[in-house]
Amino acid sequence: MKIFSTPFDKSGVDLLEKLKCKMYKVASFEITDLPLIEEISRTKKPVIISTGMSNLKEIDRAYNLMIKGGTKHIALLYCVSNYPSNINDFSLNNLEIIKKKFKVKIGLSDHTIGSFLSCMSIIKGAEVIEKHICLKNIKSVDSRFSLNENEIANFKKDLDNFYKLIKNNTYLRSKSEMKNKIFRRSIYAISDINPGEKFTKKNIKTFRPDKGLSASFFLKIINKKSPIKISKGKPLNKIGMKGQDTCELFFDNVRVPKENLLGMEGMGFMMLMKELAWERMLVAIICQAGAEAAFAHTVQYTKDRKAFGKPIGTFQNTRFKLAELRTEIDFCRTYLDRCMELQLEESLGVDAAAAAKYKISDMFSKVVDDCLQLHGGYGYMLEYPIARAYIDNRANRIYAGTNEIMKELISRTL
Ligand SMILES: Cc1cc2nc3c(=O)[nH]c(=O)nc-3n(C[C@H](O)[C@H](O)[C@H](O)COP(=O)(O)OP(=O)(O)OC[C@H]3O[C@@H](n4cnc5c(N)ncnc54)[C@H](O)[C@@H]3O)c2cc1C
Repeated sequence: MKIFSTPFDKSGVDLLEKLKCKMYKVASFEITDLPLIEEISRTKKPVIISTGMSNLKEIDRAYNLMIKGGTKHIALLYCVSNYPSNINDFSLNNLEIIKKKFKVKIGLSDHTIGSFLSCMSIIKGAEVIEKHICLKNIKSVDSRFSLNENEIANFKKDLDNFYKLIKNNTYLRSKSEMKNKIFRRSIYAISDINPGEKFTKKNIKTFRPDKGLSASFFLKIINKKSPIKISKGKPLNKIGMKGQDTCELFFDNVRVPKENLLGMEGMGFMMLMKELAWERMLVAIICQAGAEAAFAHTVQYTKDRKAFGKPIGTFQNTRFKLAELRTEIDFCRTYLDRCMELQLEESLGVDAAAAAKYKISDMFSKVVDDCLQLHGGYGYMLEYPIARAYIDNRANRIYAGTNEIMKELISRTL
């Protein structure tokens, strides 16, 4: 941090020079004190000049005297010399006018209360901001409009945010909003379209999500002939797992180039069957992790949420329920870890993978259900992770083979 000062006469300048002061400030009330300005300019050090009460002629006089004395770096601060000053007394266009006329760094000497005016001045090109600072428990002439020690950090944060708002000169779109592009529309076939048939408003339509050909091509492809057969299909309307756009895929008249062939022709289903045990293990792993996460959320929730003046986690029912869930989760984890060891040794049996899938997905559903109960009414609200887990977990007992089919597979090995 550079420390500098505002002298009010020649003796002040002399003292500051002895102290090796690196730059100077001219107060609004001294801008017409030309002998003082001449004295400061002799140091040839950077100078900040406040321009409260001054007309352009007065600023010009002080500025030219500084330049004449050899000062190279000057910043002119727009200022209203009332303490505190009122926002209605400002015209921020003054900043642009000063910048245009003097070709210097411009800034604001801000005696208003709060950060609003300083932030707005940044949009107008201010690069230097002056603000008074005073400790909270000290009463002084400027304590009323000064920032206290607790407010400085937020003031700086506000300024930084405003600098960020204007630092780009090119048209900018933030990366973070791009994830929402999925909620735009893309083009879907709403009836089967044969090769050579024209795209019309009757056979194509735009729907969310934007996963295929963007809706922006709609007008371009209308009346163009389809080179291939397209079968209708649209995203399935699931009760949960809304982040995945599950839909049926139709592969009609698709030609696969030789170099893209995986495995042997006609053996696709056999290859898929070989991976089923691993698919079931993946579901088991997802369910185990989900149950552990739901449990951790719930333990925290029962510590935070109070009823009858106590955290709900102190009630015996809550403690016993959490103890039961923890036991079930740990048992499943032990079984899953053993299955993973066998999987890595390539000796995991179909029955063991099926058992892991059905038992752990059942356990996940039970854990989430009990955890939701411990959340009370909040557990039914979608902003709570437990509510989303309640809906999303349900499919685990159905896909990758239903849990009934898993039992069928195990029973066949008996
Ligand atoms: C969210 C989600 C995503 C999916 N993702 C995919 C995917 O990416 N790829 C994919 O190929 N599939 C996917 N599926 C499909 C899923 O694999 C099947 O829904 C599942 O295998 C069950 O088949 P089914 O719907 O035909 O049910 P059905 O076979 O009709 O079963 C209905 C009921 O009958 C029972 N049942 C059926 N046969 C027997 C039997 N022999 N003995 C006892 N009970 C029986 C079942 O257990 C079930 O309770 C997904 C499903 C969902 C819900």
